[in-house]
Formats: sequence, C-alpha cells, structure tokens
Amino acid sequence: MSINFEEIYKKSLNNEYLTRDECNYILNINNNEEFKKLLDITYKIRKKYKGNKVSVQILTNAKSGNCSQDCKYCAQSCISKANIDKYPLIEYEKLLNNGKIGKNKKVARHCIGLSGITFTDKQIDEFCEYIKNLKKEVNTDICCSIGFLTRDQAKKLKEAGVNRINHNLNTGRNFYKNICTTHTYDERIKNIEMFKELGFEMCCGGIIGLGESQDDIIDMLFEVKRINPKSVPINFLIPIKGTPLEKSDISKLTPEYCIKVLCLARLLNPKADVRCAAGREIHIKDKQNLMFYAVNSIFASGYLTADGQNIDDTIKLIEDAGFEYEIE
Ligand code: SF4
Repeated sequence: MSINFEEIYKKSLNNEYLTRDECNYILNINNNEEFKKLLDITYKIRKKYKGNKVSVQILTNAKSGNCSQDCKYCAQSCISKANIDKYPLIEYEKLLNNGKIGKNKKVARHCIGLSGITFTDKQIDEFCEYIKNLKKEVNTDICCSIGFLTRDQAKKLKEAGVNRINHNLNTGRNFYKNICTTHTYDERIKNIEMFKELGFEMCCGGIIGLGESQDDIIDMLFEVKRINPKSVPINFLIPIKGTPLEKSDISKLTPEYCIKVLCLARLLNPKADVRCAAGREIHIKDKQNLMFYAVNSIFASGYLTADGQNIDDTIKLIEDAGFEYEIE
C-alpha cells in the first residue's frame, strides 16, 4: 500500500478522519523522501491554523505522591517505589512563585497538577482559594489536572477561575487495562464529558511508549479527535526508576517515530493546540527542531516528577528552529 499525501492533506484540512490504514502507513514511514512529504503536509496544516507560533506552558505539581491509583507509568502511584517528593497541597507561596516566574517569561499558561483521583470538598475549597488568589496576583490562564471531580466540585473550580482541564486518555481503550486497573477508560471518558458539559476547555492526549501497539495509538488519537479538545498533549514515556515501567522497552521511541506520532496527532486535530509534552528532551533529542512542523506548544521547566529543559533554553530552541515564541 502507498498513500497519497495530497489526499491526506485535504482530509486534514476538512477535519476528516484518516483511515486506519493511512494512520498505520504514516507511523511506518521509513524513508527520507516520504518523511519529508509528511513533514511538508503537516506543516501546511500547522501553518494555516497556528502560523509559526509556539506557546510555552509551565507545570506545577501542587500535590505530589500518595495516589490511590495504580497507573504503571506514574511515579506517584500506589505501586510506585520511585524516590520523589511527596506532599499534600503545596504552600500557596510556592504556587504563586511559579506563577510569577511564568508571568515574567510570558508563558502562555500555568498548568497545575494534583496527584490523586478524588478530593474532599474541603480540599477543593482550599484549592479554589489558591486559584482565586493566583488569578488576582498573576492572572495567567490556568489549566488543572485534577482527577475525577463531582459536578459541584468542578463548578467551584470554574467559578474560581480555572478555564481548562487536563484529563488524558493516556492510551487506547483496549490497552487501558494493561496500564491501570483501579479505574476504567470509560470513567475517564465520563469525567471528560462532564467537564465539557460545564463549559471547560479540554486538554486531552496521551502517552506513547507504554508497550502499546500502533493500533492502540490510533485508537487513542481517534478518540481524542471525537472529544475535540482545545489542546492535545502527546507525552513520550520517561521510564522512571521505581515504577513498573522503569525497564520498559522504549527502543521504538526514536526521534523520527516520535515526530511521526506528532504529525499524525496534528493531521487528525488540525485546529488544536498540539503539544509535545513530557519526554521530548530524551527521545527527540537534537531533532526537536522538526517537531515544530507538527506542534505549536511545548512545556518548559520539567514535568510533574521529572526534570526538563529550562524556560530560556526552550525559548532558544524555538527561535533557533525558525519559529516564534508566542507571547500572551
Ligand atoms: S497518573 Fe494520576 S491517577 Fe494515575 S497514579 Fe498518577 S497521580 Fe494517580
């Protein structure tokens, strides 16, 4: 089989699904000529909707470790033996400090993650106070990764000033049971639908390198497309020591493979903010300039429990690649 790149481009332009065969073909491309064609059509789509701009987000881990869930990739899970800082809700001053750093560097958004899957009303009330104060003092856009809330808790978060929620699918439906047994894929979908109904923007993507097949990646990207989030973060597994995936076979995550996944994410979600999230530094390495042909957003200053590139070097990476650092 071969594919017609012009056809794929037109489908993406019309926001249509690609066929499963087309998606598999893209992920299997292994010659330079076709890889360049893929970059070319992906860039045309990216340019149309996002220009040459790249926005940068920073991440604060506002509650770390001691999670009741058993997500195998996660250093904060109940089965992880990873040596990480564990703390209940962070002190407000630390959150504010990160918010100020972000504001000074004119990052587009402050993403705040909390470990855990459910929260008491008291915890949510306390966190909402933080958000209200943060909005008063630095007023960046805020996205929260905050598990499964009740409808009332979610409403409180919205009133406090959170306008976007991150809730990833992580992988395809069929593979989900292999990476987590304490909650289901359907519970995740239900949670996402609730936040959408309440008017939150959604940030919804996944992790590549969990041991999934290409079809699982395609399942996940098709489901993401159905959800139609504002933002699509694609993470590449950082195998953290002490987690069940610490010795995971990540040999497939070559720079080219990661870039092909990002291209596919863009072609299926032409208008979204497609973000290369965790793992770009260790997997895409010195080919990171090419990822901007697909993505218009990246993180700086590390991830929830892993280090990453600092903000200044991230800005330099964007500019050296010939793209523009997007200032709010
Ligand atoms: S990914 Fe979230 S829900 Fe899963 S173990 Fe980590 S903190 Fe808990």
